[in-house]
Amino acid sequence: MRNIFAVFYETQSMNILSIGYNRHINKNSMIHAEVDAINKLFYVKKKKYISMLIIRFNKNNDLLISLPCQLCISYMCKLKHNNYILSNIYYSINNNNIEKIKFYNINLIEKHYSCNYYKNH
Ligand SMILES: [Zn+2]
Repeated sequence: MRNIFAVFYETQSMNILSIGYNRHINKNSMIHAEVDAINKLFYVKKKKYISMLIIRFNKNNDLLISLPCQLCISYMCKLKHNNYILSNIYYSINNNNIEKIKFYNINLIEKHYSCNYYKNH
C-alpha cells in the first residue's frame, strides 16, 4: 500500500523537485518514501536549498506520524554530495497535524523512533 509520500521542493520557489513513495521492492524489503525521493534528486552544479514534506496516512486517510527513521536520515545526509542543502522537514503527526523540524536537529529526537513504525501499515 502506498501510504507514505516524501516530497522535496526548492525552499524559496516551492518548486517540486521529486516525489517518492514507499513500496515493496520484493517480498521482504521495502524502499522507504524518503529514499525513493532522494534517489530522484540528481547532481546539480549550483547549490539548491530544499525542504521536505513527509506524509503518512492510514486507510481512513488520517495522518500518522511520519518522522523519518535512522536509515533515511543517514541517507539524507548524502544529499549534500549532490549539492542539495536540506533545511526544514515537515512531517505528519497523529491527529492530522503537520510538524516542522530543522534537519540538523532531527537526530536529537530520532532516537525515540525506528523503522518499526512503518511495519504493518
Ligand atoms: Zn526510513
